[in-house]
Amino acid sequence: MDSQTASSGDISNFIVDLIEADIESGRFSGRVQTRFPPEPNGYLHVGHAKAICLNASIANNYSGVFNLRYDDTNPSTENMDFVAAIRDDLQWLLGEDIESEPLHTSQYFDRLYLWAEELIAKGKAYVDDQDGEKISEQRGGFQEPGIDSPFRNRSEEENLLLFREMRSGKFKDGECVLRAKISMNHDNMNMRDPIMYRIRHESHFRTGNEWCIYPTYDWAHGQSDAIEKVTHSLCSLEFDSHRELYDWFLDQLGIPESERPYQTEFARLNFTHTVLSKRLLKHLVEDKVVDGWDDPRMPTLSGFRKRGYPASAIRSFCEHIGVARTNGTHEIELLESFVRSDLNKSAERRMAVLNPLLVTITNWPEGYVEQRTAVNHPEEDSAGNRKIPFSGSLFIEQEDFMEDPVPKYYRLSPGREVRLRYGYFITCHAVVKDSDGNPIEILCTYDPETSGGKAPDGRKVKATIHWVSAEHALDGSVAQYDRLFSAEHPGEESGEPLDDLNLESKSILESAKFEPSIGDIVSGSVVQFERLGYFRLDEEVDLFFHRTVGLRDEWANILKRRKKH
Ligand code: ATP
Ligand code: MG
Repeated sequence: MDSQTASSGDISNFIVDLIEADIESGRFSGRVQTRFPPEPNGYLHVGHAKAICLNASIANNYSGVFNLRYDDTNPSTENMDFVAAIRDDLQWLLGEDIESEPLHTSQYFDRLYLWAEELIAKGKAYVDDQDGEKISEQRGGFQEPGIDSPFRNRSEEENLLLFREMRSGKFKDGECVLRAKISMNHDNMNMRDPIMYRIRHESHFRTGNEWCIYPTYDWAHGQSDAIEKVTHSLCSLEFDSHRELYDWFLDQLGIPESERPYQTEFARLNFTHTVLSKRLLKHLVEDKVVDGWDDPRMPTLSGFRKRGYPASAIRSFCEHIGVARTNGTHEIELLESFVRSDLNKSAERRMAVLNPLLVTITNWPEGYVEQRTAVNHPEEDSAGNRKIPFSGSLFIEQEDFMEDPVPKYYRLSPGREVRLRYGYFITCHAVVKDSDGNPIEILCTYDPETSGGKAPDGRKVKATIHWVSAEHALDGSVAQYDRLFSAEHPGEESGEPLDDLNLESKSILESAKFEPSIGDIVSGSVVQFERLGYFRLDEEVDLFFHRTVGLRDEWANILKRRKKH
């Protein structure tokens, strides 16, 4: 596969260089420990996959430790369903059980609380009675200093007392917050006395009603990494400007350099025709634009899994794009090409007709059924063969017949001969139509001499089409998917990505016909329907397939087009 454009990185990327330098210099005594820290307020998507693959592979390559840590600091948006789904999706993606139990930021609530008291005692944090709106008004802006809160100079004793009262439930939500006391004139806005604790009288899915104050992400994140002894804290670029704050907290708490997580930022993954903002994905689910987080059109890992994307294809993709320091957007066709080449190797071949049209072979011996042999995989002999019944009554695809063929249409039409895959040559000699003039049955003759797929006299046909025997066919349905967002960059024009939703992104074909051996396909696995593409058999609905990806390599076409320009 050719390399691609946006934020392309080499496998030996800058993060790997950094880790190797740290090992060499003996920093962290050669130890490597990474983590993936999702907030359990949604399902994992393909952007998270990039972060997971990066962190897991680094730990793996340097015999280090990789943990899943739920950053569960916001009781209003988090729940156990998300927690369970995140774990399942992560294991599916990595293809192995994570040995260690997942960790939770909420495990460290006591420790964080004591550390907050320590900062108060050192005069480095204060309780502010102003509301959120006021606080954000006073933050100032770029080159505009902020304003000190009137509560900024409370004594250590008063702050400690108030903070303990906050914790014991004396105040209502929003009545006060704990802020770090840094500087309201700092160039870095994140350093302008950021909030460390807010009051939330809400039950937390793990700690129940034990707490009514919750740490902010900024206060919890760096310390959680330090508690776990994470060495390399890898996160996406938007946290770049938070690093200074994380370091400030660690400085105040006196955590020595050698025990501090070292944060490095990398570019977020983005795709054309895709949104990866959790807020928007949540909206699609809650407003029932899609059928849930695992809808096959969603860029979530559970959506991909349901659609038939192999985890190995997503891992290879992530490895291929590497990491970069500048954000960029990848073409979704590139990911699809990884899915296609993975499935090309693993998927067994079968025949299916999605929009059936009846073909009657008028010279076929009445009632006779012949078992034809077909290979399950053209390159894998070990996949073996199967038998497909051939009879005088077959289904072909509606679009493989045209009564008045347009130029360059070589498939079936009156007087035209074509090859049936694994069958015989047939020639159309009549068309039966309904009262509206639509073909409902095609009458053909077959040539018994073409059993081996060739004519003994050497005559050629220009098309080979697929089929299934009508009386042996299994009936089922197929869901076809199109892009969820029709615009390449959703929201680019109007500023609202939802304006670019493709309202016809899903269609169900209810009268698909499958060759009988489709019954051998294990539910949940993907097959290639010859000439049609890759399809995954649903686990829950009988004989229901999801179209995973087509056969045509659109990525290759994009590259060709680019070369021309
Ligand atoms: P939120 O808007 O809720 O913060 P988020 O996508 O950042 O959404 P988190 O649960 O905080 O979600 O993400 C967990 C980790 O995944 C973070 O460390 C983040 O850097 C990383 N991550 C999230 N989205 C992407 C992305 N598109 N590409 C690469 N990494 C990502
Ligand atoms: Mg986040």
